[in-house]
Parts: sequence; C-alpha cells; structure tokens
Amino acid sequence: MLDLSYETPKPKVIAGAKHDWELVIGLEVHAQVASKAKLFSGASTEFGAEPNSNVAFVDAAMPGMLPVINEFCVEQAVRTGLGLNAEINLRSAFDRKNYFYPDLPQGYQISQLYHPIVGEGEILVDMGPGVARLVRVERIHLEQDAGKSIHDMDPNMSFVDLNRTGVALMEIVSRPDIRGPEEAAAYVTKLRQILRYLGTCDGNMQNGNLRADVNVSVCQPGQYEKYQATQDFSHLGTRCEIKNMNSMRFIQQAIDHEARRQIQILESGGEIVQETRLYDPDKGETRSMRSKEEAHDYRYFPCPDLLPLEIEQAWVNDIKASLPELPDAKRARFVSDFGLSEYDASVLTADAESAAFFEKVAEGRDGKLAANWVINELFGRLKKEDHDITDSPISPDYLGQIVGLISSGDINGKIAKDVFEIAYTSGRAPEEIVATEGMTQVTDTGAIEAAVDEVIAANPAQVEKAKQNPKLAGWFVGQVMKATGGKANPAAVNALVTAKLGL
Ligand code: ADP
Ligand code: MG
Repeated sequence: MLDLSYETPKPKVIAGAKHDWELVIGLEVHAQVASKAKLFSGASTEFGAEPNSNVAFVDAAMPGMLPVINEFCVEQAVRTGLGLNAEINLRSAFDRKNYFYPDLPQGYQISQLYHPIVGEGEILVDMGPGVARLVRVERIHLEQDAGKSIHDMDPNMSFVDLNRTGVALMEIVSRPDIRGPEEAAAYVTKLRQILRYLGTCDGNMQNGNLRADVNVSVCQPGQYEKYQATQDFSHLGTRCEIKNMNSMRFIQQAIDHEARRQIQILESGGEIVQETRLYDPDKGETRSMRSKEEAHDYRYFPCPDLLPLEIEQAWVNDIKASLPELPDAKRARFVSDFGLSEYDASVLTADAESAAFFEKVAEGRDGKLAANWVINELFGRLKKEDHDITDSPISPDYLGQIVGLISSGDINGKIAKDVFEIAYTSGRAPEEIVATEGMTQVTDTGAIEAAVDEVIAANPAQVEKAKQNPKLAGWFVGQVMKATGGKANPAAVNALVTAKLGL
C-alpha cells in the first residue's frame, strides 16, 4: 500500500497579463525493455553495434516473415505493471499503426492501441520530505521501436540503421495529473527509479532507453478541480505534445517555454492548435513538427500476424511474488528501522545498489551513524572520483568496521576519517589498520589529564585570557588533541580543560 500521509504540492502558476494560469501535464514515457532480444525476433538489442548488424529478416520486413512474441518482454511489461500497482490484463492484443518512414521497413509499427497489457496504475511522485503527488497511470502497452535515420554523415545522402527496429518498448501513459515542470521531472525520476529497481528497463536516458513525450496545456485556476471532479477533459485547455525528450533539464525547460507560448496566444485572443512540437534547447523554444494526428489517420487494425496475447493469473502471481522491495516501501522501512530522516532515507534508496550497500554497513550497528558515513564520506568520495557504488574501493563490510569502531569508542570521528582514507586507498581492513597503526582513541583519563596539565603549564598567558573569555577553552582542546596525535577522546578533553581552567 502506498503511504497517503503526504502533503500535496501547489500547482505551478504563471502570471499572465490578464490573470494567472495553471499548468496541466501528461507524460507518455517510452521505456526500452531490458531484454537481450527484440520483441518479435531473436536479433540482439546491443547498443552501439555496427549499423545493420542486429537485424533479423522479420525486422527488415522481408516478405513472408512472421513475428514471434518474446515471452521475456511480456514478463517485463507485467512486472512493470505490478510495480506500479496496476491492473494486469490477462487478454491483450497487438495492432498495426500504419505510417511511412524510411526507418520503418514494415510500413507499420506493431503496438497495442485497443487492448493494452497493463491498465490503470499509480506513481507517488516525491517533491521533498513529506510532500508528494499521486499521479495516475492510464495504461502501459508494448510496442516496437523504429530504426534510425542518419542525416549528418554525408552531404548528399541519408543512411538508415535498422539495429533498433523491433526493439521492445513499454509506453507508459500518465493521466494529466502533473502540475508543473519540476513535477514532470520528478515523475520521470521516480518512474525511472522504479523501473531500475524492477530491472525491467535500464533507464539510460543518454542512450535513449527512456524518453518522454510531454503533453502540456494551460488553464485558469479552478478548471483543473472541475476536470478532477468529472474527468471531463473539456474543462482543460487544448494541449500540445513535445516529442522525444531525453533529459530532465530539457523536459523542464520545454514545459516552461511551451506554457508561456500558449499563454501569450490565449491572452491575445488566439486559440491553441493541438499539434506535435519539438523542443530546440539551443534556441530555448518549441516549434511545430506536425499537426495532431488522430487514431484513424494511422488506420489502426488488429495485427493479423499475431494471436491475441493471453496470459494466466498464476503466472502473474508468480511474477508478483518475485518483485523486490520497491523505493516507497524501502524508504519507509529505513525511516522506521534505522531512525533515519526522510531525506537521508530517500538519498540512500535512490537506487537499489546504494540501499543494499547501506544495509550491510548498518547491520547490527548504529543506523544513523552508518547513514552519515555512507552519505557524507563515501558518496562524497565516490562522486569526486566518478566511481559508482557498485565499484566502491571500500567494501560495505569495511565501512561497517569503521562505524563499529566509532560506536565502541575505539576511535573518534577525526581518526575515523584517517582510517577511512587508508582503507579506501589501500584496501586494508579498518580493524587491522587501527590495531597496527596504534590509532586507538586515548580514553585513559590519566594520560589525557597529563596532556591537559602540560598545555596549561606551557601557556600561562592564554590561561589568563581564557578565564576572561571561556570561548578560548576550545584553543586548549585543540592543543591537547594535537599533542595526543588526535587520538584523545574529545569529550574527555573538553571536560578536563573546562574543569582545570575553572570555567
Ligand atoms: P492521444 O491518444 O491522442 O495521444 P491521449 O488521451 O492518449 O491522447 O493522451 C495522451 C497524453 O496526453 C496522456 O499522457 C494524457 O494524460 C495527456 N493529456 C490529455 N489531455 C491533456 C491536457 N488537456 N493537458 C495536458 N495533457 C493532456
Ligand atoms: Mg498518445
């Protein structure tokens, strides 16, 4: 169950010349199924292969070739649906969407218009600790990707690469529940996070494995609430669709520019024409690509080469039983089991690998301290060197040893940083480093007291000043820490300095 105890963010409002406007956004995300083979052929989906080397006869639309459904891809769509709390349709069907394009040799794309495999679902979009919006998912359908036309390799010719032709995509369609550019980016971030937890899409946006068509409209305050109460779209403004966005930053910029363009037209008495637009990040504007096409323009009809897709509830149940713990549940558990803040819990659950790493560090130890070390020391260090958590030079077991040594009082926080540095760069075990390098914290009060006495005796002028200004006690603490090679227990030093100076 989703946690519904969050606060809902306000919609983004843009001030117009005449009155305020609110944004309404719906996203169609194309997520490439993490499958080694294509949706209807055994050809490889490997990225960056030699052009036209991963093309089966059926992908090239050779006459007489028949598509054969890839069961693994179907399973990933079901898995994704279950991960989004969605209805799974035991019977779905494939349709042909007809259009001409040089990189589409079939002359149609096989998709699922009338009977998608996944129905209504939902995504909780996080907008900060305790603030979230529940965005409804309308459907997920399976479809083929098209090939790639290359226009910039030769001044006189264009090329076609069919490697991507027939690769399985899940099109995940949201309801128009998203109310601002930041929310749209947060929606894509959350969806990508869930897909990666599920392992159904690798979410690599640079390689185009996850791209979004962004539908934007504007309306006057109060209109959206009417739409919500009735689900009647006539309360909303006419939308434009911005195609193929594969960067979070560009998604936000494009929405902002598109909303302002629409507001300007509406306020000067014009009408929005429903159309498909492209975002030009260099110019910072959207421009018209084609007028909006309707389903009948594509002459959709059931694909005669494929039987309706029937799956069994028992199979769906098996898939459901194999789902991993998902981000919302994991974050809530980290808050309750380890006493973490919402913020720390969401940083640690951003991806499944980081979460698993943290859990190993924290196992049987102080969870908050473990979170501090993973987030502040480890993540900071990994980021500096462009390392990924999966190739961290320090293992969770070793980072856990550092946390354990701090908790037991064997080392203080300052020495722990030195131990971390040695362990990180040498691969040695922290427990062994502390033992062999004599880095154990001095907690013996007698030894600390001797060091305090020495510092006080050597600095009579400072002692006089400190008596006037107790803040100077810190200077003595610093001197004692230095004299003990940073190994004294800081709390003990503090107490002794204060007592001996009579502060
Ligand atoms: P089509 O089939 O023509 O693409 P859909 O009804 O499937 O149209 O909607 C496509 C996307 O547009 C969905 O994500 C939906 O949420 C979004 N959408 C629909 N109406 C609006 C609107 N008025 N403003 C913003 N987005 C909208
Ligand atoms: Mg659509």
